[in-house]
Amino acid sequence: MCPVCGRWLGRRIPCAACSAAEMGFSRGIYGFYYERGLRDAVHAFKFRGRKDVGRRLARLAGEKVRPLRGTFDCIVPIPVSGRRLRERGFNQSYIISEEISSITGVIVDHRSLVKRGGTRDQFTLSRRERRSNVRGAFHVRDRSSVEGKRILLVDDLFTTGYTASEAARTLKAAGSADVTLFALARTP
Ligand SMILES: [Zn+2]
Repeated sequence: MCPVCGRWLGRRIPCAACSAAEMGFSRGIYGFYYERGLRDAVHAFKFRGRKDVGRRLARLAGEKVRPLRGTFDCIVPIPVSGRRLRERGFNQSYIISEEISSITGVIVDHRSLVKRGGTRDQFTLSRRERRSNVRGAFHVRDRSSVEGKRILLVDDLFTTGYTASEAARTLKAAGSADVTLFALARTP
């Protein structure tokens, strides 16, 4: 797998896109492939409010993060908009972050990175629309909380990587020293 975007290559070297630094984060950890039973489980968590399923998946996948716990200072869930939060009742990435925190002992910072309103759901859009939809979608509330920090950015489902990449770029622009991505699942 490419150590950044998780694309299957048969060798552990960065793919062409990641060699050209297309992703905003420096490495990626991916829990599961989004297929077969895992697809159903992630779907239940993401769209049907099954927090218990999400927590169990996060605990399993979080074992991949445990050996790396000395390499980041805080865990930042990718935020959702206020409207989305009201509709769903919770942010999946925050639930996953809590589990990663309990495995690693690293604190969750869920206040520093903020989602602006007005962006559409990525899964309703085409690949090209997705890229422009996330541009400028995030901002950092208080730079001093991320400056110099090595951040584990947490997402639920990695598809094109545009959302995670934009969030990582926003953190880097605000002074973060490094951003590693953890995604619970990745499309194959
Ligand atoms: Zn790659």
